[in-house]
Amino acid sequence: MATASASTHSEQSDLRGLKGVIPLIGLTGGIGSGKTAVSDQLGKLGAGIIDTDVIAHQITATNGFAIEPIRKHFGSDYIDENGALDRAKMRTLVFAKPEEKKALEAITHPLIRQETIKQALQLAKDGVPYLVFVVPLLLESGTWLGLIDQLVVVDCPVETQIHRVMQRNNLPRSEVEKILKTQASREERLAHADFVIENQGTLSQLTDEVNQLNQKILQIQKG
Ligand code: ATP
Repeated sequence: MATASASTHSEQSDLRGLKGVIPLIGLTGGIGSGKTAVSDQLGKLGAGIIDTDVIAHQITATNGFAIEPIRKHFGSDYIDENGALDRAKMRTLVFAKPEEKKALEAITHPLIRQETIKQALQLAKDGVPYLVFVVPLLLESGTWLGLIDQLVVVDCPVETQIHRVMQRNNLPRSEVEKILKTQASREERLAHADFVIENQGTLSQLTDEVNQLNQKILQIQKG
């Protein structure tokens, strides 16, 4: 994993260094709520998007920075023939053994954080009007709320989440429900929201909502 810059001091490379320099927007929502759909649209409107889920996938893809440490801890059984993390196998393990989930996170979280910082600094340097950190478990992780300026929550009924994820990932209902149990409730997320994107209509309605959100964030920036 490349560091933000070999000569960058840790305080500077920390996200806190960006506070007050550029608006820091957190974007969260339950599984299948539509975070990616929203962040893709915000990206098209010019926002700087840092998606921690995308980063987590990159570092565990073929030749990703987390692969060798994962192999060392869990063994080659968890690495597939392409040299990527065997996600299905790992998912089964970490659901069954919380201590192995912790071990996996001890490997991946620092790498995700490092890459998050690197991307945020680069986007800020590129001159984007604001940064959006897409963090599925933003509330659960504890540290993000103290950092971000505004929180956007993408919301829809749980039944809609379940149907979308069953369809998208070809998962049985029971698997989606298991994942939902590990996430904050709809109510908990909404209680922390500065902006709520209601994503229970069509994708075209979502686009309208996201356009309005972008305008509101740009207004805050001006004000
Ligand atoms: P995850 O937490 O699993 O990463 P997510 O919150 O990023 O999910 P998306 O991937 O954006 O959610 O959306 C989940 C699925 O639902 C996708 O297949 C997406 O195309 C679809 N989807 C999202 N919003 C809508 C909508 N308003 N109408 C129809 N389909 C939608």
